[in-house]
Amino acid sequence: MRATAAVLYEVKKPLVIEEVELLDPGPHEVQVRWVANGVCHSDYHLMSGDVPHPLPVVLGHEAAGVVERIGPGVESVAVGDHVCSSYIPSCGKCGYCIGGQPTMCALRDKPRWLMLDGTTRFRKNGTSLNHYLQVAGFATHSVLMEESVIPIRKDAPLDVVCLVSCGVLAGAGPVFNRAKVPPGASVAVWGCGGVGLNTIQAAKLVGAGKIIAVDVMPQKLAWAEEFGATHVVNAATEDPVARVQAISGSGGVDFAFELVGTQATIEQAVLSTHRGGTAVVVGVCPAGTKVSLDPALFLQQRVLTGSSFGAGHQRTDVPMLIDMFMSGKYKLEELISRRVPLGDVNLAYDALLKGEVKRSVVLY
Ligand SMILES: [Zn+2]
Ligand SMILES: [Zn+2]
Repeated sequence: MRATAAVLYEVKKPLVIEEVELLDPGPHEVQVRWVANGVCHSDYHLMSGDVPHPLPVVLGHEAAGVVERIGPGVESVAVGDHVCSSYIPSCGKCGYCIGGQPTMCALRDKPRWLMLDGTTRFRKNGTSLNHYLQVAGFATHSVLMEESVIPIRKDAPLDVVCLVSCGVLAGAGPVFNRAKVPPGASVAVWGCGGVGLNTIQAAKLVGAGKIIAVDVMPQKLAWAEEFGATHVVNAATEDPVARVQAISGSGGVDFAFELVGTQATIEQAVLSTHRGGTAVVVGVCPAGTKVSLDPALFLQQRVLTGSSFGAGHQRTDVPMLIDMFMSGKYKLEELISRRVPLGDVNLAYDALLKGEVKRSVVLY
C-alpha cells in the first residue's frame, strides 16, 4: 500500500515529505495507521548529524494510532486496537524483561532501524527506507514489530496521548522509577522543554519540596513555573550550580535531573547535588560527548545514573500515565503548543530549535 512519510535522505537537509510504498506486515508485525506523532528533539540529532544513523530513514518515534492489519502469529494486539509506539520494544521473554528492566530489553541489541528479520517495510523507487527506532511515526502508516506497540484505552484522544510515547514517560518516569523521589525531597531539573516539564510535573505529583528549574530561555522557565517549579534559575545569567546549592539550603539538592544532553549540564547536575545525592541523565548527547568529574564527588556517595524510556515498565507505565491524564491528574494538553500537518514538519523543527514550543504534534 501507499503511505506518506517524512524521510531523512541527507544530514543537514530538510526532511522530504513524499509518498512511499509500505509492504505487508510479516510474522509478529502489525500495520498501524498513525493519528499523531510528537515533534521530539531526538530525531533532530539524526537530522543534524550529531548522532550518525543509517540513511535514508523515516523519522518519528512519539506516535499513537490504530492497528489496521496484523501479521501471522500476532497475539498481543488486534485490529482496531489503539496503540502508543514503544521506541524501546519489550519482548517479555529475555533476562531484562523477566528481571524487571524491560526498558533494557535484549531486542535493543538488534539494529534499531530494521524489523527483526533484518529488512524494512518501506520502499521508495526500489530503495529500502529505514524505520527510526522501529517506529517511523512521521508517516501516515507504518509497520512495527508487535513488541513495539502498547495497547491503550480507546477513549483517550490519540492526538494528545501520543506524547506519552516518548517525552512524557521519558521525563516523568525517572522521578517515579529511577530516583524514586520521596515526598519533601529537593529536586533540580536541567532543561525545561517538552521532556523536562514532565520531570517537573512528576516531581510535583510525588510531593517534592523544592523543585528548581534550570534553563537558559526565560520562556521555558515561565513554563516550568506553570508545571510546578517552585524556583527558577536562568543559567544564561547566573551560575546554576551555585544558585541551586543556595536555594536548596542544604549544600545541594537530593536529586538532579539532566534533560539537555551536554557535558556541561551533566557535570552541573552532579555538582548541584549534596553528599549522597543522585543525578539522573535523561538528555541525549551528541555522539562522542564525555564528562569530566572529580572522583571525590563519588567518594562522597553521590550517584550518577541514567534513565531510558522512563526506566520502569513501559507496557504498564504508558497506560498508567494515560489513566492519570484521563482522570485529570496529569497535564498533557498543556504540553502541546502547536498542531501541524506532516508537510510542516521541517517548520516544526525550526520552532523547536528556537525554543518557541513546548511540543508540536504532527496530525495525519
Ligand atoms: Zn523522543
Ligand atoms: Zn526483552
